[in-house]
Amino acid sequence: MIDLHVHTTASDGTLTPAEAVRLASRIGLHAIAITDHDTVLGHCEALSAGQEAGIEVIPGIEIGTLWQQGSARCSVHILGYYVNDTAPALTAFLSGIIAERNERNRNIAALMAEDGLPTDYDQMHQRFGPFIGRPHFAQILMEEGLVSSIDEAFSLYLNRGGKYFLPRKPISLKQAIHTITDAGGVPVLAHPFQYRLSEEELCTLISTCKSFGLQGLECRYSLYDAGQHAILDRLAAQYHLLRTGGSDFHGTRKPHIALGTGTGQLAVPDDFLLPLKQAAHLI
Ligand code: AMP
Ligand code: FE
Ligand code: FE
Ligand code: ZN
Repeated sequence: MIDLHVHTTASDGTLTPAEAVRLASRIGLHAIAITDHDTVLGHCEALSAGQEAGIEVIPGIEIGTLWQQGSARCSVHILGYYVNDTAPALTAFLSGIIAERNERNRNIAALMAEDGLPTDYDQMHQRFGPFIGRPHFAQILMEEGLVSSIDEAFSLYLNRGGKYFLPRKPISLKQAIHTITDAGGVPVLAHPFQYRLSEEELCTLISTCKSFGLQGLECRYSLYDAGQHAILDRLAAQYHLLRTGGSDFHGTRKPHIALGTGTGQLAVPDDFLLPLKQAAHLI
């Protein structure tokens, strides 16, 4: 089995890239893709840990986008596999996203500090590293005893409508897919049922993504059952998309999701890897 959707401390996971790779090797996975949000900074460490542990590491990324269709707006995540970390268009695109994310974060930190919370933003960087997201603010809310779980921190404070929610500047679906493709990567639609679309709307989303160059669909995911996996397999066949699958492991920030097995039932077959490599022109 393999896991093609994993977050590390390079974004909002709690294991370092090397720790995630070593854990994958220990539990017997044959390959793991590092798909941190908006950054490729975990690749180097993960790839060398993979060589040491004798497990295949696929460099990936996950980019959050906004899909706008008429008056409907939907946050859609695009995974990119085998992106070239040094492609100038990609690095420029990502530094722009990170700069804008930091600006939003600073404002969230200031809002929370006004309420007496320990959210000095420079100190947060010292503690959490270069990437900060809402999960890090959620952790502080939990440590300060305002909530009893990360989930509760999101639903009470950090989701849209919450006291500490501030929006980020939207990235378009088209731009994300094009940037991944231009960097030699394979763009894949992440967790298709997370967008709470009807099947008809999901089909519209998939054909829109396809028109921008989408090549794959995440057909196995921690939170989906066998029936949903079957629907995704059918959609992948219908739209001529390759299939990927992964847990969306975040370490203790999503404690219910285990590497490789998700909530217990996830199993992503090794066979998914070959078409992905072919799409990336690696074989
Ligand atoms: P941001 O990109 O900083 O706006 O934060 C979004 C991140 O929060 C995503 O990467 C999710 O992994 C994470 N997230 C969203 N909702 C939850 C939740 N209920 N529990 C844990 N993590 C969450
Ligand atoms: Fe995340
Ligand atoms: Fe996602
Ligand atoms: Zn993810």
